[in-house]
Amino acid sequence: MKQKETLLNTMEIDLAKERFEELGDEHVGTSVETPLREDAFEMDDDLKIELIEKHFREIMNVMGLDLTDDSLKGTPYRVAKMYVKEIFSGLDPKNKPSIKVFENKYKYKQMLVEKDITFYSNCEHHFVPIFGKAHVAYISQGEVIGLSKINRIVQYFAKRPQVQERLTMQIGNELKEALGTDDVAVILDAYHLCVSSRGVEDTNSSTVTSYYSGKFEHDEQSRNEFLKYIELKK
Ligand SMILES: [Zn+2]
Repeated sequence: MKQKETLLNTMEIDLAKERFEELGDEHVGTSVETPLREDAFEMDDDLKIELIEKHFREIMNVMGLDLTDDSLKGTPYRVAKMYVKEIFSGLDPKNKPSIKVFENKYKYKQMLVEKDITFYSNCEHHFVPIFGKAHVAYISQGEVIGLSKINRIVQYFAKRPQVQERLTMQIGNELKEALGTDDVAVILDAYHLCVSSRGVEDTNSSTVTSYYSGKFEHDEQSRNEFLKYIELKK
């Protein structure tokens, strides 16, 4: 009886694993907010690096790699530092770019488009890169933003474990708030290494996601104007 129960439990666990694996492979996200624990930033960066280094060393050990080899010795620390200080630094609100807006003195009321912003992110299901271009547009309601700040907003949200849909929405929502306008559009066109280098191994397909708000959502002309400017060419 006991054995039967254990067998059933194992089967359930296997099924759950399969379901989660499928969820990851289909790149289904669960919310607009990055799922973070409340105590996410109680540890400081140095302690995080120290702990990740320890655990990454263990992963390499389990894979049978010889960590006394000069080439591998420094890898756990390098990976840990890269995670905390670079590729996942956008998890920490202290790294959020401070956005200064300026009064739109010259009364520019047309659409402003910044296209081909290169970004690098990582898929939260496989921890391998997502990279591509972001195209952003807004129509000022009286305030403008330094152009480099748009890049910084894109980079900040990209530097998290992500799903592309969420990244698109997070950039859109942030711009709406920073600029005090509803008229915001974001398009991301990206490659997922978890699709091209593993899984179905499709090296050519890219994924396009969009966020339209305000005029871009309701006014076809504004949306088409934006799309015409960016003409999804590579
Ligand atoms: Zn993935």
